[in-house]
This record gives sequence, C-alpha cells and structure tokens, in this order.
Amino acid sequence: MRTIVEGCELQEGCPFFQKAKDMEEETEAGAFFAIYCRGPKEGDCAIKSVADELGWDVVPDNMMPNGNPIPGTGGEEGWPDEVKRRVGP
Ligand code: SF4
Repeated sequence: MRTIVEGCELQEGCPFFQKAKDMEEETEAGAFFAIYCRGPKEGDCAIKSVADELGWDVVPDNMMPNGNPIPGTGGEEGWPDEVKRRVGP
C-alpha cells in the first residue's frame, strides 16, 4: 500500500515544517506554511535551496521558507555566514 504524503516531501526533516505545522494561518509563519509547505510555492522555498546547496545541518531553526527569520525569534543572529549570504539581499 502506498502512503500519500500531503505537501512538501521534505517535511519530515524540516525544522520549519515541524515548528509551523501547529501555527495559525493568521501568523506570518503559519501563512508561509500554507503557501509553501502545503501550497503552490513549495518549489520556491529558501529552506529547500539552502538545504540542497549547503546541507540540512546549517539550516537555521528559525528560518522561514521566504528566507527571513520567524518574527520574535531573535532574527538572523547566530545564522552561519554562508546561509546569510545565500538568502541575503
Ligand atoms: S519549509 Fe520548505 S523545505 Fe520545509 S517543508 Fe516547507 S516547503 Fe518543504
């Protein structure tokens, strides 16, 4: 029997997914979760591209799929320079 997984295939190992799955859609993180992890922009996810290029070990716990930190979580402080360069302006 085949298990059908809804949404992004990387959800099991993704720190954002695990954090945001219980957040309300009204929060910024919850809205991004709906659009990226469960929705049409899955292929544009910054977390996915950082993980592809640099590995899951460097993906910050508080990064959102648009490359910004989850509001109220201390910003980009502590993010590795290579990650900041990858998602920066
Ligand atoms: S944050 Fe990105 S990599 Fe993680 S589950 Fe959502 S779409 Fe997939």
